[in-house]
Amino acid sequence: MIDSSLLKVVATKEYNEEQKKAIAVGFCPECLPTLTDYRILHSFFSEEHKMMVLRVKCSNIAHCEWEEILPGHRSENGLENFFHS
Ligand SMILES: [Zn+2]
Repeated sequence: MIDSSLLKVVATKEYNEEQKKAIAVGFCPECLPTLTDYRILHSFFSEEHKMMVLRVKCSNIAHCEWEEILPGHRSENGLENFFHS
């Protein structure tokens, strides 16, 4: 799960509760109610936030332009398990 307090800090847009839940479980908030997953373009260390962040994009690129910065997983848990559960 993405920490919603961190999401608020890192994300470039505002999301409602339902959208935040979708993001947390790996779905695009702008495709709701359709559940479209998003892909990770890359992860990088954000100097601004002093943490690892992910640049993600909706996988339905033909119909949705959603792109966002999300908080990366905390290092003690490892990124790998996070998005492939
Ligand atoms: Zn989308």
